[in-house]
Amino acid sequence: MANVIVVAGAGVSGLTSALLLSKNKGNVITVVAKHMPGDYDIEYASPWAGANVLPMATEEKSRWERRTWPELKRLTEDVPEAGIHFQKARVFRRKKDESAPGVHVADPLFSANPWYQSVLPDYRELGPNEVIPGHDSGCEFTSLCINTAIYLPWLVGQCLKNGVVFKRAVLTDIRDAKALSHTGQPAKIIVNATALGSLKLGGVKDETMMPARGQVVVVRNEYHPMIATSGTDDGATEMTYIMTRAAGGGTILGGTYDVGNWESVPDPNIAVRIMKRAVDVAPGLTGGKGIEGLSVIRHGVGLRPYRRDGVRIEAEEMKGDDGETVVVVHNYGHAGWGYQGSYGCAERVVELVEGIVRG
Ligand code: FAD
Repeated sequence: MANVIVVAGAGVSGLTSALLLSKNKGNVITVVAKHMPGDYDIEYASPWAGANVLPMATEEKSRWERRTWPELKRLTEDVPEAGIHFQKARVFRRKKDESAPGVHVADPLFSANPWYQSVLPDYRELGPNEVIPGHDSGCEFTSLCINTAIYLPWLVGQCLKNGVVFKRAVLTDIRDAKALSHTGQPAKIIVNATALGSLKLGGVKDETMMPARGQVVVVRNEYHPMIATSGTDDGATEMTYIMTRAAGGGTILGGTYDVGNWESVPDPNIAVRIMKRAVDVAPGLTGGKGIEGLSVIRHGVGLRPYRRDGVRIEAEEMKGDDGETVVVVHNYGHAGWGYQGSYGCAERVVELVEGIVRG
């Protein structure tokens, strides 16, 4: 008998879960979501991401990122139509940011001797004359950058090829997904990948969910390597990073990480600060012409689905209105690392689903 599964959510978490689940021909999968690839909406984080791999987890919690790198690397090497390319990353540290730990959730990225030096290729500490002014040390490694406008539709295409069916739906309760399988049969398992939607979604109402607002400027100028710095002098919610997307996706200048801020409109003052910091750390971005040399494609804001206690990946039995049980496998709360942890998390979803199917 087929395993009827409904995945709620079509961001990178829902799509990667659906893709890995669809590799088992015994699973019949419907993805239902309010927003789909192609949409740009403040309630939909995935299109706004850079997206690169700059590890953020502590070593103890590094499973999701460790398990994801090999698959993203394989796609970059062998599947050009996925829209990912390798890019060298340079991470710069300031001593004064060490005394303000926790300002950004990305802190483990800036550790000396980080766990990820054995995972990401070509890791090395930078020599003193390679460190940019205003910084005390830095490191370099090979990372990658995903063009989300290509990658998300590519994921949909891979799912369609495996027989996954996509439907639009706005859920008021996660259990409503049970009745939404395209087969007409009730779903046995629901995967909850509704991210920030889980704050208000009936049956979940996870009040530890909140936005970590990220404002970016997308420009036509290209720059290599990608850059991230440990702090700025513009306040605790501001950050500096630069990454150039694959396949003409432009360059993302970031940014902010502002927990609890729901504002969907780009703030022009923040935008100017982002651009100024970018040309300060990388004057070559505009050939030394300052921010006037930037060719802006758009200003954007995305809300990272931040969860106070970290990502939630677990199975939960729920009783529906009909008194019947349905199992919900949660996969939400990835904050700023939803892409770089996507395959590790989806692999765990598959393990949980297989456990439920085996009874
Ligand atoms: P979302 O993409 O938000 O998808 C949620 C889905 O659930 C949507 O389809 C939505 O419509 C649906 N949904 C919600 N509620 C309901 C409902 N009630 N009924 C029906 N459907 C519902 N990550 C990285 O790995 N690397 C990066 O470099 C990176 N950079 C980032 C930069 C910025 C500026 C931002 C904002 C984020 C960045 N991220 C990055 C984080 C990454 O974007 C997120 O972690 C990831 O997109 C979360 O994906 P998701 O599928 O869980 O959520």
